[in-house]
Amino acid sequence: MIELKGAAVSAQIKEQVQKALAKRPGPPPKLAIIRVGENPDDLSYEKGARKKLESFGLRSQSFSYPKQISHARFYEAFLQINQDPDVDGILLLLPLPAQIRFPEIAQAIDPKKDVDGISPVNIAKVFAGETDGFAPCTAEAVMEILSHYGVETAGKRAVVVGRSMVVGRPLSMLLLQQNATVTICHTRTRNLELVCRDAELLVAAAGQRKMLDERYVGKDAVVVDVGIHVDQEGKLCGDVDFDRIRDCASMATPVPGGVGSVTTAVLAKHLMRAAGAFEE
Ligand code: NDP
Repeated sequence: MIELKGAAVSAQIKEQVQKALAKRPGPPPKLAIIRVGENPDDLSYEKGARKKLESFGLRSQSFSYPKQISHARFYEAFLQINQDPDVDGILLLLPLPAQIRFPEIAQAIDPKKDVDGISPVNIAKVFAGETDGFAPCTAEAVMEILSHYGVETAGKRAVVVGRSMVVGRPLSMLLLQQNATVTICHTRTRNLELVCRDAELLVAAAGQRKMLDERYVGKDAVVVDVGIHVDQEGKLCGDVDFDRIRDCASMATPVPGGVGSVTTAVLAKHLMRAAGAFEE
């Protein structure tokens, strides 16, 4: 089984970004990362994203707010960042606490700065198959990996396990746009094993630790694992039991070192596009 490692994909994106940066006068594009509360997963993602952007030569600034902040105060602060001409892109760490009305924030975000695709405008573009908006970085990271390793999607049976707005749904649309025949699975899917085993391309985005093993993977399938978990020994693992699919899958992304490492590279790419500094 071939491991589809994210590092090579990320390095290629870094090269593209740095080439475009070299041609661009003025300060590098800047990302605002907005966090409410101190969720350890958010803190770790924020740290990783900032480090990656810095290594690409891009700027970032963190804006953090207490977990109890009122909707009105947060909305006001958000609008200020949204309108700041020095901010080219905005990454809002989700989910927000219950008192903050997310739909109002998503409506307010400038679609041109919405580098993680949360605004209704960008969601509509992804669903319409228009490529001039922003898809969520994780969903696009999967497409970058497939393209980098030359995995053909046209006409293939693709099964996506998970239907969240962050991963499963947008990714299904991106795969459809690339002419895959897409099946979307969720907790009410019957015979999940059978449906997954029929896939030529299987994407795991269920958020369930090591849920998919050899029983779910057809012979020579390509498996992409979006899940991120910590196992009993404190090590990172995915939705797929990687060791158990070695004999059936032809290719698979590892965790760590797979989709996660490409997600922040896509974020950098989106930031460049938001700043008008990147033509693909
Ligand atoms: P959500 O919890 O929002 O969604 C999970 C989806 O999986 C839901 O649609 C749910 O179905 C479905 N699901 C859950 N359990 C099962 C099951 N037993 N059988 C079939 N379907 C199931 O998760 P996210 O989409 O936000 O994230 C998914 C995973 O990806 C997580 O592990 C997360 O940590 C990871 N992630 C990784 C990123 C990266 O950069 N690599 C970024 C973002 C997330 P239903 O709708 O019926 O409830």
